[in-house]
Amino acid sequence: AYWPASGDIRVENLSASYSLDGPKILHDLSFHIKSGERIGVVGRTGSGKSSLTLSLLRCIFTEGNVYYDGLDTRNVNLDALRSNITIIPQIPELLSGSLRQNLDPFDQHDDATLNDALRAAGLFSLQSEMDDGRITLDSAVADGGGNLSVGQRQILALARAIVRGSKLLILDEATSAIDYKTDSIIQSSLRHELRGDVTLITVAHRLQTIMDADKIMVLDAGNIVEFNSPKEL
Ligand code: ATP
Ligand code: MG
Repeated sequence: AYWPASGDIRVENLSASYSLDGPKILHDLSFHIKSGERIGVVGRTGSGKSSLTLSLLRCIFTEGNVYYDGLDTRNVNLDALRSNITIIPQIPELLSGSLRQNLDPFDQHDDATLNDALRAAGLFSLQSEMDDGRITLDSAVADGGGNLSVGQRQILALARAIVRGSKLLILDEATSAIDYKTDSIIQSSLRHELRGDVTLITVAHRLQTIMDADKIMVLDAGNIVEFNSPKEL
């Protein structure tokens, strides 16, 4: 069976650190996000936003429980978890190879599907900005993605999430590395192209980016200080 069937996340008493005996970066967080909700996460630099995204996939040391679709992630194979949930990090690392290989590493989809995803994610809107001409599925990606801007890498990672049909998408927006235009392309792709049942968590640096979120989580020093609809903040 395909898992998870929905994008429901329940977090109970989640703490996290970067090494076994290292300081706690997140302190006993508990919250519930329903399937299909759009959540914005804000907080000053170092407040724990990226650490929260990593701890949801147990990429760092965690205590407490995370349930996806009612299943405790401790009882789920980490590979299965990480292939069903997409995190777009602040600076995505890509594989060297073609765009096609990055979008579809196991060669499971046809070109039309991949091109549709690139279009939906907004990559072609950046076309004219690139000095080396048209982007196609055969365009080369340098190791790590170094020949693409951080914004283009995030858009590519978003296209990959669309191809995979992820039920849960976590976008950790790039900060200074991303220009306003690229940011607005990503936001409009998210608004228009993701199906209604996809849960979206956006770590945002501009409040404007997440004003239409269902709820906004405010982090401060590894604690949740607010988790409410934008109009109640
Ligand atoms: P920004 O807005 O700058 O992206 P953030 O809210 O994402 O900040 P985090 O990166 O989650 O903040 O950092 C939270 C805390 O974790 C900080 O005290 C930071 O120093 C620490 N931290 C982050 N990454 C690591 C790491 N790889 N090893 C050890 N500590 C880390
Ligand atoms: Mg961060």
